[in-house]
Amino acid sequence: MEIISKIKTMQEIADSLRRENKKIGFVPTMGALHQGHLSLIKAAREQNDALVVSIFVNPLQFSPEEDYESYPQVMEKDTELCEQMGVDVIFCPEMAEMYPPLPLRERDGVRETTVERQSMCLTTVHVSEITSGLCGLFRPCFFQGVTTVVTKLFHAVKPHTAYFGQKDYQQAVVIKKMISDLNMDIEMQILPIIREKGEKGLALSSRNAYLNPEERIQAGILFETLRIAKLMLDNGERDGVRLSSWMKENIEANPLVLLEYAEVCDTEILKPLFQIETRALLALAVRIGKTRLIDNMIWEQAG
Ligand code: AMP
Repeated sequence: MEIISKIKTMQEIADSLRRENKKIGFVPTMGALHQGHLSLIKAAREQNDALVVSIFVNPLQFSPEEDYESYPQVMEKDTELCEQMGVDVIFCPEMAEMYPPLPLRERDGVRETTVERQSMCLTTVHVSEITSGLCGLFRPCFFQGVTTVVTKLFHAVKPHTAYFGQKDYQQAVVIKKMISDLNMDIEMQILPIIREKGEKGLALSSRNAYLNPEERIQAGILFETLRIAKLMLDNGERDGVRLSSWMKENIEANPLVLLEYAEVCDTEILKPLFQIETRALLALAVRIGKTRLIDNMIWEQAG
């Protein structure tokens, strides 16, 4: 397994693999790998000749009050896991490699910090409309940060197929749209959410490490709400407003959980559904203490 930190070197490896007609599979991550990431890595390993995993905590997708500085970084353990999974290349560029330092500026007499300035990549990729609702409402910089970094990673790794998790459903839909709108010659696969075993069914996330034992119990409300909402749909509920109101009430009944959104949406354009027909996205975001958690489920009419 090779560990590559330079974009140029990564591009040379990708070019040489492509010359040999090798299929390149790519799993972009921010590290702190768990079974959710490993499910993507496993699928990519099975379906490609060469497998690249990137580990890069992208400052562009965090707003100043978010957890960029404290995001879990466990490179040694991640390297071991990648080795065990048969990864060929870990691509882990330094921040300055991805976002070369810009001269610091002064604003209102205050000198910007390096992180602030580096977080301002001057060329960005923006997908409109489907980024405005759900997480986009609460994290205004997030999707532009994601689409910009994923574009840069695609240019470095030159994959044939890239793997993403349904866990971040809106992100996956946004990247799919970007690939299509910008004619990127990349196949995309979206794989199912991996959850903790047991009835609480907490979706695995690197941020779960922030939860204390009490908060971890409270976090069970996410999957519980999704499961019951899905049952209601199975039993014939078709009113999207009534269903999302129930989801909100069920979460808000828990004083330790702060609701961001609970929506019933179209699965492609991500707009709220008033009348549900054969398919719907149930999507949630909450804060428990300092931790932001998201989860979702796709409901499809049986048969
Ligand atoms: P992250 O490191 O959080 O940026 O995630 C990297 C990739 O792993 C994204 O495509 C996520 O959607 C995916 N992922 C994260 N958690 C899970 C999970 N519990 N199940 C499946 N995929 C996941």
